Amino acid sequence: PLLLDIRDVKKHYGKFQALKGVSLDLREGEIISVLGPSGCGKSTLLQLVAGLAKPDGGEILLSGRRIASASGMVPPEKRGVNMVFQDYALWPHMSVFDNIAYGLKQKKMDRAAIRAKVEEALDLLRLNGLQDRLPPQLSGGQQQRVAIARAIVTEPRLMLLDEPLSNLDMRLRIEMRTEMAVLFRRLGISVFHVTHDPEEAFAMADRLLIMREGAIDQFASPKACFRRP
Ligand code: ADP
Ligand code: ADP
Repeated sequence: PLLLDIRDVKKHYGKFQALKGVSLDLREGEIISVLGPSGCGKSTLLQLVAGLAKPDGGEILLSGRRIASASGMVPPEKRGVNMVFQDYALWPHMSVFDNIAYGLKQKKMDRAAIRAKVEEALDLLRLNGLQDRLPPQLSGGQQQRVAIARAIVTEPRLMLLDEPLSNLDMRLRIEMRTEMAVLFRRLGISVFHVTHDPEEAFAMADRLLIMREGAIDQFASPKACFRRP
């Protein structure tokens, strides 16, 4: 079944047309990676799905419900969508445990259930033993795993990844892109992933969306996209 349905979405900044009518669909459990040169509109598209910006035209549906159009939008926290950012955006003065537990506390889940959920996430992301540390006391790779743990623990319908590995060194990027894809597939979490790294996209995606100048250039399996004539 269809999870995300983006229909002819347009966005401009002043006279500049950043998205010129983009349409795509994402199925339940699917990982789509959005790839393309700087300035092609990847972040703008992700912001529209996240609810951080409003389209000027077209509409976005999530599980059949309209969440954004020119005439209105559902706020980010009501979309069942979580996001992992390039700079992690962890709360530096909160422990690893509290960072991961944050969304569960907002939902007013009871303490025992929160503890169980956080411990499960610590296990999944191989963060055992680090729960009392503060983010600045962790390596970049560990911080990114905390950000992922925080994003999966509330069981979002859709995970948005914005250049998630760009701040890591090459060895970690190679390790983490496989680890992330395996984890999301195992948990059945659908993923909308933006990157400028073709290898990262190729390693993670079921389908690749290649953008160029605010429009879709290709939308197909990685093999089909990278096949040379
Ligand atoms: P990408 O993520 O692919 O690098 P973006 O979506 O960030 O592309 O940007 C697409 C285009 O829109 C770029 O030319 C960028 O300069 C422009 N743009 C993005 N955000 C704004 C903004 N807030 N105001 C004006 N122009 C913007
Ligand atoms: P507490 O009141 O439990 O000490 P905090 O001081 O950690 O909570 O955070 C207060 C609010 O500020 C939180 O709701 C959080 O959304 C926001 N916040 C704190 N640190 C950051 C950060 N680094 N980036 C973004 N938002 C933050």
